[in-house]
Amino acid sequence: MDENIIDSLIEAAKEAAKYAYVPYSSFPVGAAVLTDDGKIFSGTNIENASFGGTVCAERVAIFKAVSEGHTAITALAVYNENTLPYPCGICRQVMTEFSDDMPIIVASDYSVKKHRLSELMPCAFKGDIL
Ligand SMILES: [Zn+2]
Repeated sequence: MDENIIDSLIEAAKEAAKYAYVPYSSFPVGAAVLTDDGKIFSGTNIENASFGGTVCAERVAIFKAVSEGHTAITALAVYNENTLPYPCGICRQVMTEFSDDMPIIVASDYSVKKHRLSELMPCAFKGDIL
């Protein structure tokens, strides 16, 4: 994958993290997705006093893209300043819905790791078996 695109995704995720609403965890995360037509959508984690209402940055970014008609996600970056913020299981499942096997870039200010969705979500449950 083009390094310039990876850098753009990380930068968009980093910018989004500035707007994290994290009064309970104080763990801001930003995410950005690339769509098949080259658009970037970003999101941040949004917490809620009823913890079940909390939504991760990755899902916010994906849902922003999907809600504007972009259902083919071709890459995703997720960012926290200090720690590599690996996506949770729910986010990995949502990623599976909108990508077959996209690159997942996990980034902090100190490290960047590149994975494939199939590596982070092996034997995924997919709608095509329904
Ligand atoms: Zn998540």
